[in-house]
Amino acid sequence: MVTNKRTTHAVFSGQQSGQPRLPSIFNRNPAFYTPVNLEPVQTTTPEANSTRMNTTAIIGGGFSGTLASVNLVRFAKKQQRVVIVNSGRPFGRGTAYGTTRPEHLLNVAARNMSAFPDHPDHFFHWLRSRCEFDSVPDAELRETFVPRQIYGDYVRGVATHFLGSHDPRSQVECKVIEDTAVDIEPRGDGGVVLLEKGQPIEAQNVLLATGNQPPAGLPGAERLASDSRYVGNPWKNWHESLPNDDAHIVVLGTGLTAVDVVVTLRKKGWNGRITAISRNGMLPQRHFRGIQWPSVVPDDGQHRSLQELSKLIRQDCERLRGVSQNPAIAVDKLRGRTQAFWQNLTIEEKQRFLKEYAPSWNVIRHRIAGPIHDAITDSLDCGQLTIIPATIQSLSAEERTIDVSLIDTSSQPQTVHGDLVINCTGPKARFSNSGIPLYQQLFARGLAKPDDMDMGIAVDSHFAVIDADGQSSAFLHAIGPILKGTLWETVAVPELRAQAMHVAQAILLQPPVHIQDFDTIEYCI
Ligand SMILES: Cc1cc2nc3c(=O)[nH]c(=O)nc-3n(C[C@H](O)[C@H](O)[C@H](O)COP(=O)(O)OP(=O)(O)OC[C@H]3O[C@@H](n4cnc5c(N)ncnc54)[C@H](O)[C@@H]3O)c2cc1C
Repeated sequence: MVTNKRTTHAVFSGQQSGQPRLPSIFNRNPAFYTPVNLEPVQTTTPEANSTRMNTTAIIGGGFSGTLASVNLVRFAKKQQRVVIVNSGRPFGRGTAYGTTRPEHLLNVAARNMSAFPDHPDHFFHWLRSRCEFDSVPDAELRETFVPRQIYGDYVRGVATHFLGSHDPRSQVECKVIEDTAVDIEPRGDGGVVLLEKGQPIEAQNVLLATGNQPPAGLPGAERLASDSRYVGNPWKNWHESLPNDDAHIVVLGTGLTAVDVVVTLRKKGWNGRITAISRNGMLPQRHFRGIQWPSVVPDDGQHRSLQELSKLIRQDCERLRGVSQNPAIAVDKLRGRTQAFWQNLTIEEKQRFLKEYAPSWNVIRHRIAGPIHDAITDSLDCGQLTIIPATIQSLSAEERTIDVSLIDTSSQPQTVHGDLVINCTGPKARFSNSGIPLYQQLFARGLAKPDDMDMGIAVDSHFAVIDADGQSSAFLHAIGPILKGTLWETVAVPELRAQAMHVAQAILLQPPVHIQDFDTIEYCI
C-alpha cells in the first residue's frame, strides 16, 4: 500500500500509548485540503454498464452509509467503485446530524463520538482543531455535548477527505446520487438497485443503511396530510412558522425528538403552552457524573435468562442507590455486552423485555445533555410544559384546532385541542407493515425477511441479510438502526462505527481487523 508520511495531519500524530496504529490509508491522501465536489448529483447516465471494477451500492447516506463507504476506501486493496444512493436527509448528516437547529445537542459526550472504532479519539482531536473550543481544557472538551450540526460537519469532513479524493492512487471511485432506492433485483452474483427517478445501478454488493424509519402515522393522520396545523414529520422545518404565544402546541411523544421540539420552541422565544403526551409519560434522564463500578453480571451473563439478568441488574441498582449513586450506572456498565444478552434471549423473553422493561431502559440508557435537561425542567417548573401519560387513540381536524383523542391511565377518554400538533412518536412498531417500498419489495422477492421481533430485518453475524429461506445473502448486507430486533443496541455511533468498519471488511472479503476494546460507558467519572 502506498503511504505518504509528508501529508499526515497533526490530529493523527497524538496517539496515546496502547492505542492501535492507524492503517496507512490515513496517511496517504495528498488531497486532504483540496476542495472537492461531493454534492449529490442527479443521475442521467446509465450506471449499469460499468464492468471495470467491483461496484458496491450503498442505500442511505447518513452516518452508517457514509462511514461504510469511508471504510471501503480505507481497506480496499484493489480497485472498487462505490455508489451511495441517498434521499430525504442531507448526505453525511442523515436524520440526527442534519438538524438545522444549533440548540440540538449530541446526547453522547465527545469522547465517545469518534467515527472510527480503531481510532477512538478521532472526533476529540477534530474538535480540538476548531477555534470555538480553544479555551476549553481537554478533560472538559471530552465530556462536552456539542451541537449535532457540528457533528454533521465532522462526518461530512471525513467523507470529503476519504470519498472526495481525486488522488490517482486511490483504489476507490465514489459517487453520491440523490434519489430513492425502491427495489433490488438479483442479477448474476449481485443485484440491480432500482431508483425512483434515475437509472438502475448494477452492483456486486449492496448495503442497506437506510437508518431510522420515518415516524409512524397515527389513526386519523392520513386526513391531515395537507393541514398546516399537523406536522407528521418532526425533521421538517415546522419551526419556521409558529402560532402566536396564546396558542397551544401538542407534542405526541416524550422521547428525544419531543425534547428537541421543546428546546427549539424555547430557543425561538415561543412562550405558549406545550402539552407532551406518551403512554408512560417518561422524559429522558440527564447525563451525570458517576464512579468506577464493577458490573455484577458475571462473564457468562449472555447465558442467563431474562429473569436472572433482571434480578442481577435490580440488585446492582439497589447497591448503587445504597451508596447514593445513580442506578443508570448499572445499565451503562452492560453496554459492551448488551447485544450478546439480547441475542441469547428467547423470543418470549424479548417480547417481555419490550413490554415490561424497555420503556424504563430507554429513558435511562438514552440520556440527554445537562443544558437540555435544564431547559426541559425549567419548562415544567414554569408551567409551560405539561406531560400527560395516556394512549393516543386518534387525531381529527376540527374548525379551530386539531383534536387528539386519548385514553388516560385511569382508562378515561380525554381530548386535547392543539393549534399545532407535532408527531414525535417514532417509527412504527411492526416493520413488516411499515409500507416502505424498498423493504416491501425485498420481502416480496424473498431477498430479506423481518427479524423475529419484526423491528427490522434479519442479518447474520457478518451483517449479510438473511433471505426468506433462512440463507445468508451473498451480495446484500445491512447495518444500522434497522438491526434493532437482531441486536437491540444498534442506534448510536459507538455501535454503528464498528458495524460500518466490519461490513466494509466483509464486502471486501477481508477478515475483520481486531479492535482493541475501550470503554464506551456514557456517564463520566
Ligand atoms: C434526533 C436524533 C439524535 C441522535 N443523537 C445521537 C447522538 O448524539 N449520538 C449518537 O451516537 N447517536 C445519536 N442518534 C442515533 C443515530 O441514529 C445515529 O447516530 C446515526 O445518525 C444513524 O445513522 P444512519 O445512517 O444509520 O441513519 P440515518 O441518519 O437515518 O440515515 C439514513 C439515510 O438514508 C436515507 N434513506 C432511507 N431510505 C432510503 C432509500 N430507500 N433510498 C435512498 N435513501 C434512503 C435517509 O433519508 C437518510 O438520509 C440520534 C438519533 C436521532 C434520531
